[in-house]
Amino acid sequence: LKEGVVDNLIARYDDEFKSKLAFERSIEQHMRDALTNGEYAIYLQPQFSLEDGSLVGAELLCRRDSPELGFLAPDRFIPQFERNGFISELDFYMMEQACSLYPLVDHPRSDGTPVHLAVNFSRVTMLQNDFVERFDSVVRRFDIPASFLHVEITESAFSADEKVIIDIIADLQERGFPIAMDDFGTGYSSLSLLKSMPIDVLKIDRGFLSASEDDVRSRRVLEYVIPLANALGIDTVCEGIETAEQAALLRSLECDIGQGYYFARPMPLAAFRERYASAR
Ligand code: C2E
Ligand code: MG
Ligand code: MG
Ligand code: MG
Repeated sequence: LKEGVVDNLIARYDDEFKSKLAFERSIEQHMRDALTNGEYAIYLQPQFSLEDGSLVGAELLCRRDSPELGFLAPDRFIPQFERNGFISELDFYMMEQACSLYPLVDHPRSDGTPVHLAVNFSRVTMLQNDFVERFDSVVRRFDIPASFLHVEITESAFSADEKVIIDIIADLQERGFPIAMDDFGTGYSSLSLLKSMPIDVLKIDRGFLSASEDDVRSRRVLEYVIPLANALGIDTVCEGIETAEQAALLRSLECDIGQGYYFARPMPLAAFRERYASAR
């Protein structure tokens, strides 16, 4: 990736527009144009049942593919998008893409429930006044069953002070949209969150796997959290599974679902279609 390209862009814009407002508008327009021009690519990472290895769903992950900037991972642009609010455009774009894929992945899992797609929603998106309205209008437009669309929200957004978010989450859950708490274990997680928050799926952060066998304390946490979630009727997904040993460990702990490079990397839509659309 060409470092300095962004700085050059910014410098150029700064010269062209003396006022800060005009500058910010131009950046925002640039992002909108990029969205319209399809410069954000959708990647899908499949999720598998750890019990029988069948495909249960996939997570949509965004990539920026820009003529000027090259190929960018979300960490390179999402923080900025969260600062300027543009993240909601991206999140709803991803949601629309997920809904439009319903016919492609519309087939039952081995347990009879349908294969799902999971979309990440930033807390910034959820805090926008028209969030529920926009969410509902997409759902109506595509006519998808609620259970198809998993709503992923990072653990850090589940703060008791964010009454607005908790209310929205509870409302979505009541209407049947499964709620997944993402990156569990990275924030100031409290186990009481599991008891009090309306969640259906717990996505355990890959941090608990990184040090693998030697990391006794991480392993103890997994041994504790997974049965606890299971006992509460919450589905468990472990992210970032990279080795057969990790997959075996999680299977032995009765973690429901695995996601990670060991099974499959996030892949462009075409590859996903090729590999999984025929899984019927
Ligand atoms: P996330 O939602 O926790 O997504 C999982 C991340 O782990 C993805 O990174 C995925 O590529 C990576 N991953 C999956 N398996 C493995 C593995 O086995 N090993 C390792 N080392 N990594 C693995 P990615 O795609 O770079 O996304 C980073 C974060 O950006 C996501 O974390 C999510 O929080 C955010 N993000 C991505 N797309 C969107 C989006 O459309 N909207 C919002 N709001 N956030 C998004
Ligand atoms: Mg996620
Ligand atoms: Mg995560
Ligand atoms: Mg995340």
